[in-house]
Amino acid sequence: MRAFLLQAGGELTLVDTLFEDDGAGVLEAIRKLGRSPRDLKRIVLTHAHRSHLGGLAALKRETGATVLAHEWEADIVAGERAAQSVGLKPTRPFRTYPFQVGIFLGRPKHEPCPIDESVADGATAGPLEVLHLPGHSPGHLGFHWAERGLVIAGDAIATWPRFEAGWPAFNLNLEQHRESVRRLAGLDAQIVGVGHGEPITKAATDRVRALVV
Ligand SMILES: [Zn+2]
Ligand SMILES: [Zn+2]
Repeated sequence: MRAFLLQAGGELTLVDTLFEDDGAGVLEAIRKLGRSPRDLKRIVLTHAHRSHLGGLAALKRETGATVLAHEWEADIVAGERAAQSVGLKPTRPFRTYPFQVGIFLGRPKHEPCPIDESVADGATAGPLEVLHLPGHSPGHLGFHWAERGLVIAGDAIATWPRFEAGWPAFNLNLEQHRESVRRLAGLDAQIVGVGHGEPITKAATDRVRALVV
């Protein structure tokens, strides 16, 4: 799983918070930059799946950061609604199956954390432009830092266990998902960060375009 810690104009912005409950990995990354937890101004969530928000409540307490997500995901983040089930039918690649079972069972639960602001397509979050990229989940977001050529695709694209347009079993709405991938393919990207697997750092725009069907 991946989270992204970005530094711009002296402020830190975090995209997603990983699986662990205590946010320790993110706090260590902040300290390694020579910054303190209070320098984290905002936490933006791609979507409300467990492996993207495990550390959220702990990081909110430690940093006081503003928490942002799409409004469709907000009550899942706040613990008021379960994430939409993806079913139990085993689907390739099978290494993603434990995540599928986790969502089906709603386990492990994350510590609830209310969001502070909902964000929609076209909003800005620090240096990032917010992209609404539904399909994997209805309120799934991606982010674009145009000046740095950085695109964060969340779970719209996966590079683990293989490179593809998201994990097939998890794409709730295929038509929306295809449109979201088309939209990502239209961005000029040097680096594409994804929720699961290594970021794409070579020929990133061409590789995303190859996923368009
Ligand atoms: Zn997901
Ligand atoms: Zn994920």
